[in-house]
Amino acid sequence: MVRPQKRTFPTEIPNWIGGKELPAASGKLFDKLNPADGEILCRAARSDEKDIARAVKAARKVQPVWANTPAVQRGMLLHDIVLGLKARQQEVAQVVAAETGKSLKDALGETGGAIALGLFYASEGQRLYGRTTTSGTPNKYAMTVRQPVGVAGLIVAANTPIANVAWKVFPALVCGNAAILKAAEDTPVTAWIFGEIARLSGLPAGLLNIIQGYGEEAGAALVKNPGVDLISFTGSTAVGRQIAGIAGERMAKVSLELGGKNPMVVCDDADLENAAKWVLLSAFSNAGQRCAAASRIIIFSSVYDKFRRNLVERAAKLKVGTADSDDFGPVINGEQLSNILGTVARARRAGAKILTGGKRLTDPAHRNGFYIAPTLIENAAPDSEISTSELFGPVACLYRARDFQEALELANNSPYGLTACIHTQNFNRALEFSHKVQAGVAVVNAGTYGSEPHMPFGGVKNSGNGWREPGTEALDVYSELKDIYINIQPETA
Ligand code: NAD
Repeated sequence: MVRPQKRTFPTEIPNWIGGKELPAASGKLFDKLNPADGEILCRAARSDEKDIARAVKAARKVQPVWANTPAVQRGMLLHDIVLGLKARQQEVAQVVAAETGKSLKDALGETGGAIALGLFYASEGQRLYGRTTTSGTPNKYAMTVRQPVGVAGLIVAANTPIANVAWKVFPALVCGNAAILKAAEDTPVTAWIFGEIARLSGLPAGLLNIIQGYGEEAGAALVKNPGVDLISFTGSTAVGRQIAGIAGERMAKVSLELGGKNPMVVCDDADLENAAKWVLLSAFSNAGQRCAAASRIIIFSSVYDKFRRNLVERAAKLKVGTADSDDFGPVINGEQLSNILGTVARARRAGAKILTGGKRLTDPAHRNGFYIAPTLIENAAPDSEISTSELFGPVACLYRARDFQEALELANNSPYGLTACIHTQNFNRALEFSHKVQAGVAVVNAGTYGSEPHMPFGGVKNSGNGWREPGTEALDVYSELKDIYINIQPETA
């Protein structure tokens, strides 16, 4: 594992509030463990409602000035943050790799994604379009403009930490809001270093406050605080549901980007080699810790045995570790590891068959880290726990389908609806699936993946509450729309 230099990686991670590094008001810290070896990597501020209150005060003070700054200038400033990220891409990627256990190669790719996203939103400062339209009344002009919402509370997951931070901070700021980011407790340093880059790039103090801490303490306090006008949350459906209730009660705007249980259909006419490659990538990259990970592989019965054999052989050869030559690393923490293996054990007891994996890696190179072998399972009932709950780990279940119709039904038989993919050479199947599958993203002949920076991402059913981020659609999350009517009297002109 690449261990970043000290300067990049302080041993105690403070909050950023009002442009200053501050410890938690309580003085408490929590341990952040290295998922690759279980050792303490650093300690971070264990914040609570007092720290949130300080951050809200700092944010509310500067937000009106930022709102009055032309969006073009806001975008220019964000552009400087992007340049700062780019100049320190290697360093940021080292932090991401160390905190998550993913390879430096993957962390560099993810940091590149954050930079691309930042560039897109920095440029949106020059395109913060409203709309002009017609009116039914003579001499009346109608237009819709964007205005900031106010203070945006941003809560993120740890799976792709720098991308998740960028995904929310850039659109929130370009729209004229001040932001309070609750860092994921498993990736405190990534959030901290982003804050440092923003400060060094000249972002005025108080516009981006970064609070470290646990969800039940710091996160819940952010959601409750009446000084926070908008909550944008990326995380599990269970927590999203709680947030929707609490923030909804006080009429705050809430955008929820939640979990998935993403189906991948392999038809009898598919290029089976290509399909196998994409199944493995979709199920196991980032140790399956992707909202878009493929976890339900639905295979036509006529090719099931052949495809399963190929898949199992290839999965068993995947390399698990933190090097660039490895296929994936550890899961993020010990609790996740136990939850995943517990669900697999219950599935086995209920009659499912573990085709490969299904266990923690305990050889000397892996035993102290949170490593799970790539796991493929069959004979799980479609309505069983393992088929319907998101595991967020390197585990996928295989299902047989008689034909296209049954495959589509199985794909849609889920509480989630985030992404979906079909492998087929048949144009009719590809289009019919893309239209009928209940998901926010449908893919033909590749993997289940998230969206590019300029595309709207989000899901249906339990995968979200209807908002889409990023893309220009995220501007609707971070703006209020106001209609303006101007009435004139031409006879007085
Ligand atoms: P999680 O819901 O446990 O935590 C996510 C964040 O919410 C963390 O920062 C956590 O501290 C905070 N949190 C926890 N409890 C809270 C509470 N009561 N109030 C406020 N904040 C609270 O999720 P996780 O296990 O860290 O992340 C994995 C989940 O994120 C998966 O479900 C995955 O699918 C989802 N995810 C979704 C997307 C998407 O775009 N749809 C992207 C990445 C991850």
